[in-house]
Amino acid sequence: TPGALTDHVAMLPSPGMGHLIPLIELAKKLVHSNRVTVTFIIPTESGSPSKAQQSVLAALPPSISYVFLPPVSLDDLPEDSRIETIISLSVSRSLPALREVLAAIAKTRLLVSLVVDLFGTDAFEVAGEFNVSRYIFYPANATCLSLFFYLPALDRAVSCEYRDLPEPVRIPGCIPIRGEDLLDPVQDRRNEAYRWVLHHTKRYPMADGIMVNSFEALEGGALETLREKRREGMPPVYAVGPLVKIDRPAAAAAERAECLKWLDEQPRGSVLYVSFGSGGTLSSEQITELALGLEMSEQRFLWVVRRPNDIAASSYFKVHGQDEAFFDFLPECFLERTKGRGFVLPSWAPQAQVLAHEATGGFLSHCGWNSILESVVNGVPVIAWPLYAEQRMNAVLLTEGIQVALQPKVGEDGVVNREEVAAVVKGMMEGEAGKKMRYRMKGLKEAAGEALSEGRASTMAIAEVALKWSAQSSSSP
Ligand code: UDP
Repeated sequence: TPGALTDHVAMLPSPGMGHLIPLIELAKKLVHSNRVTVTFIIPTESGSPSKAQQSVLAALPPSISYVFLPPVSLDDLPEDSRIETIISLSVSRSLPALREVLAAIAKTRLLVSLVVDLFGTDAFEVAGEFNVSRYIFYPANATCLSLFFYLPALDRAVSCEYRDLPEPVRIPGCIPIRGEDLLDPVQDRRNEAYRWVLHHTKRYPMADGIMVNSFEALEGGALETLREKRREGMPPVYAVGPLVKIDRPAAAAAERAECLKWLDEQPRGSVLYVSFGSGGTLSSEQITELALGLEMSEQRFLWVVRRPNDIAASSYFKVHGQDEAFFDFLPECFLERTKGRGFVLPSWAPQAQVLAHEATGGFLSHCGWNSILESVVNGVPVIAWPLYAEQRMNAVLLTEGIQVALQPKVGEDGVVNREEVAAVVKGMMEGEAGKKMRYRMKGLKEAAGEALSEGRASTMAIAEVALKWSAQSSSSP
């Protein structure tokens, strides 16, 4: 059959849109220029995909197919189980189903590799049974990957909680990071989630290669040190980034999102885009301070607002449009007072298009790595407002490492007050600090474009991996 002799790769994204989106971009690059076909094998919560999953999967080219795994039961987990535990268990309990899918693929295709993401190393067992290579796609950055390489040693050397260490943690190749800024699941070493992260990091040496969503100009030091670890038996590391989602603009003007039409009318570089990713929510007090701070700054802003997390689960509401009654949790008359200068929308924005818009001049972000890379490829400087996962580490990298972000000070009560918000927003949009960051970001934007162009670093790294796969398939019997 046609295609039977093409190298075929199975990809197993662990649950979470932030994991699926960049893996899809990697797959697209692989099939586009490297004669590889791909099947996504996707664990689900209910046996059927979410709306967000459906929309990204519907846009896949024909050489990328996908199957959903049946849901696994997680009923035995304690209510307060952390996300890393849930993700890891949903992968490990899916192995029998994964085995069946791979067996079916291997009947008609030349299966050469299984690519898992950061918490998917338990699937290596199954890759071994099919005698295919084992790769990790690491959707976070090289700094975080460096911590994953380092964690087993750190775990042996330190007996207290990392946040109680008197000195910052010195991860090889990276800027020093205070213990309390390390990623969430390592903050409580007695928690199951910590044991899972440690379990995965100890299995990273089993991989045949690791692809990381970053590039030289962003994290040269960390990448170089990661590559040197080959001498200590670690797998080769390939910098394949920045892999970011490109939103296709609406074909008809009428379908163009309202917020984009509003941006069309704003001066170049004048709007601060404010968003906390796919899951981030703030307390009601923090929302009030942020709102009043944005107002005090007298800058233009486009804000994706979610209901405060002490009122309702933010992921639930699906209302769209400018229903003002809906924003009843915002300060009184805030919408009237900022009308024209501010645009507020509920739950979800076409972020890639917003960041690419020439009116956007700054991004107040929760520092999810996908968001940061989207900001980088558009040359937009950042106000760092980390919330969870590894976002505090990303914020340190942006503010102290590459210096393309400002970070507001959090008060003793855990809240950033309105004066601080206003000062940082003004500093970014009008001040000298903002100018410097914007200049540096422009440099990174160019470097990103270069890394991704034909024959350059990230494209070549992907080609190198594809070449390894095909060499291995032509040498096997
Ligand atoms: N995103 C979006 N609209 C929104 C919020 C998020 O399109 O209103 C997209 C964003 O462009 C990015 C992803 O969702 O590609 C969020 O990933 P990130 O790693 O930044 O954060 P996470 O949501 O995983 O915390």
